[in-house]
Amino acid sequence: MIYDAVIVGSGFSAIATVCNLVELLPASASIAIVGDDPGFGRGTAYRTELYLHRLNVPAGRMSLYPDRPDNFVEWLRERKRPLGAGDFASRQDYGLYIRDSLAELLRHKKPRCRVDFIKAKATGCVERYGTVIGFLLDNGNEIAGRNIVLCLGVGNAKLPIDLSALSPRALAHVVENPWRLSWLRRVEATDRVCILGSGLTMIDQVLALSAHGFTGKVTVLSRRGLAPLDHVRAPKLAMEIDVAALPTRMSELLHALRRESRTSGDWRSVMDGLRPKTQALWLRLPEVERRRFLRHALPWWNIHRHRVAPDVFGKFDSMIRSGQVSIRAGYLLDVEESNGLRLRYRPRGRSDIAALEADWVVNCTGMERAGISHSPLLREMQHQGLIEADPLNLGITVDAQSRIPRSTSSGPAIYAVGALTAGQFWEITAVPDIRVQARKVGQAIAGGVQ
Ligand SMILES: Cc1cc2nc3c(=O)[nH]c(=O)nc-3n(C[C@H](O)[C@H](O)[C@H](O)COP(=O)(O)OP(=O)(O)OC[C@H]3O[C@@H](n4cnc5c(N)ncnc54)[C@H](O)[C@@H]3O)c2cc1C
Repeated sequence: MIYDAVIVGSGFSAIATVCNLVELLPASASIAIVGDDPGFGRGTAYRTELYLHRLNVPAGRMSLYPDRPDNFVEWLRERKRPLGAGDFASRQDYGLYIRDSLAELLRHKKPRCRVDFIKAKATGCVERYGTVIGFLLDNGNEIAGRNIVLCLGVGNAKLPIDLSALSPRALAHVVENPWRLSWLRRVEATDRVCILGSGLTMIDQVLALSAHGFTGKVTVLSRRGLAPLDHVRAPKLAMEIDVAALPTRMSELLHALRRESRTSGDWRSVMDGLRPKTQALWLRLPEVERRRFLRHALPWWNIHRHRVAPDVFGKFDSMIRSGQVSIRAGYLLDVEESNGLRLRYRPRGRSDIAALEADWVVNCTGMERAGISHSPLLREMQHQGLIEADPLNLGITVDAQSRIPRSTSSGPAIYAVGALTAGQFWEITAVPDIRVQARKVGQAIAGGVQ
């Protein structure tokens, strides 16, 4: 069967796209969604097994629908969760909200188009007759569509070192994918844990350890040793920022933003003012300045932009102050077996080599910033000339409509939604941006389907 739209991927981007298509397409249309995720809609972010893992965006900005901003807050209220628009809900609840929203839409929209959920991984693809793209699935089947939406997210970053010399016993203490929380059950309460990477994933893992009764020491190692900053309970109003008046040279731009922060008295109001305009700012930057940003400013941007809920930060900060958690800045060189695991690293700004001992090494180096190397499907599509990698290694090249530019306008249309489009939009990894993009892609597809 040839579908009007095939959505590949099954995280938030995919479900947001499907919800929009169901609303916009005629009843005669058909959609297939192909995903290897056990819970459609949850992806890595919202499939957490721990209720304590929280959203890092207030509930009032997490609605699935940009034109119905209260949708998630109302869902929380109906489920008697004592949370308002400014609170940070559980990510587990958010996964349930996405599931419920989709189920409700499919139940109540009458008449509606056909929607098929196919639990499989797309492993390869082929363009047929110049009009459709067929995907080969790991269950042996094939499906084809006239419009394709790639919602593949970004794979987990691999550990930046070669572990092949470690014995199976030692490797069993290296946690490559911390989202499989089963590793927590194997940790002794007083073990020594070394977490590589100091972003939001690290904070999640520290809190998860603590919730499991862990009382041992955690050493965090990352290149700059910078950890995320906090949201505040009563934030100042977001500052009005005129993006067109900002300089586009990175050094001058950062200088201007620092000046605004001093004027406002809280850098958060500058970041909050910039937040909805970041895409516009990114579009104005020449490629050389985008490269400069990625090389020099990215870690600073990340800790100011991707903040944690105030009480989550409070808990983490108290563990730092008590000495249970310590953060070191350095470049990891290798891991060898000793009395446990021995990590050698070069401390930041020094030429000597230091070492630390641990019973566990946990990879929290975060999501790969969407290259295409993590995905065999994307590599295959690139090989066939169906997509091109973004020149800054920020996903794939798309135009302002999130569509992959192709030499002919008549063939099948390929779109991408989510972090794979970071080269074009930069600020496209979180719900407030993805939901808008999913709506626009839904409208573009619906415009061409009779
Ligand atoms: C831990 C964590 C917490 C976060 N918290 C927040 C938050 O509080 N607020 C916020 O706005 N954003 C948050 N984010 C950002 C989050 O990435 C987005 O909100 C959103 O979940 C991204 O969804 P996605 O569908 O684009 O990607 P993903 O969730 O990664 O989903 C991609 C899906 O595609 C599937 N897939 C990949 N390749 C194939 C293939 N070949 N065939 C079939 N299926 C395939 C994968 O299995 C996966 O299920 C968080 C992210 C993480 C990792």
